[in-house]
Amino acid sequence: MPQWVVVQYGFRVTLGQFQFMPMKVHNFSAGPGILPAEVLQQAAEAAINFKGMGLSLLEISHRSKEYVAAIDEAMDVVRRLLHLSDDYAVVYLQGGASLQFSMVPFNLLRPEGYAAYVNSGVWATKATQEAEKLGKTKVIASSKDANFSYVPKGYDIPSDADYLHITSNNTIYGTQMKDFPQSPVPLVCDMSSDIFSRVFDPNQFGLIYAGAQKNMGPAGATLAIIRKDLLGKSGRNMPTMLNYAPHIENGSMYNTPSVFSVYVCMLTLQWLERNGGVPAAETRNRAKADLLYNEIDRNGLFKGTCATEDRSDMNATFVLTDESHAADFEKMLKDANISGLKGHRSVGGYRASIYNAMPIESVQVLVDVMKTFEKQRG
Ligand SMILES: *Cc1c(COP(=O)(O)O)cnc(C)c1O
Repeated sequence: MPQWVVVQYGFRVTLGQFQFMPMKVHNFSAGPGILPAEVLQQAAEAAINFKGMGLSLLEISHRSKEYVAAIDEAMDVVRRLLHLSDDYAVVYLQGGASLQFSMVPFNLLRPEGYAAYVNSGVWATKATQEAEKLGKTKVIASSKDANFSYVPKGYDIPSDADYLHITSNNTIYGTQMKDFPQSPVPLVCDMSSDIFSRVFDPNQFGLIYAGAQKNMGPAGATLAIIRKDLLGKSGRNMPTMLNYAPHIENGSMYNTPSVFSVYVCMLTLQWLERNGGVPAAETRNRAKADLLYNEIDRNGLFKGTCATEDRSDMNATFVLTDESHAADFEKMLKDANISGLKGHRSVGGYRASIYNAMPIESVQVLVDVMKTFEKQRG
């Protein structure tokens, strides 16, 4: 049986042999999302023969010295990319961003205290609901009244809350917090869909978490960045696996980590570092987003779905001005090898996820289809 896998950008991988293939799929999937072609190639090699051991990464001990070096590097590359100080711990966890909705209050919400939440979308709502199971929450701002088509602003942050929870990028609605609030209490941020996409000051945050599968790797790994002095204060007796401390103390290896996912995160973040790090990614992401939003605004057959000033550089949501053209437009997308553009069911229309690994050439293909569609409609 031939041992090859087909990856994006038209390469076949045959244990180090490459064959060019004519088809290129433009992957706009919201998550799990696009990964760099060279990362997929490296991952495929590690799945077959890891570090020349003659063994697959999938079948060796996570405590082998080869893997320990890899997971240590996976944490270190996060530190380098974000310029984290020693005040912060970096860990890889499992359970997705959704488990962080519970881990955060277990670790930071005192039984007699309360936590403040900004409700900017379904993920933020779910985060609030999980915290409510453990203690008191206060939703201090919400954009639910307008189907989360904007990011709430101008709210007061109570100085007696145990923490304030925000969502930096609302993956479903295509809105993004452009400025983070100046918070008198520890700021906790769900950055699942835009971590490493733009420069920010990590020192304004108490805790950052991100499911890897949007912008930093495959599903199965979750990154958490935690200011160490915040831990051990909730006074709760929590399940060991939900306590950040043992994960930190054991270098993300309290138990068997998500070995392969963490490794592919490492590869993806090293790729980012080789390509200019977060500042260069931000420049590329701005250019991609500008290209697409300019077309959405220029082309009379399309319109954006959210407040212009809050538009996400990661997920661009738009609809047809006349829904009766949907089948024609979707056929053109398919013919152009554009994949994953369907919007979330709660917004409808289209969502172009243009994460770090998405080349601007693929965005240009989408824009060209939109222009051709306009010409054909007259
Ligand atoms: C996808 C997503 C989640 C849920 O992530 P899981 O890893 O599936 O639990 C949470 N928050 C945001 C912002 C997301 O985009």
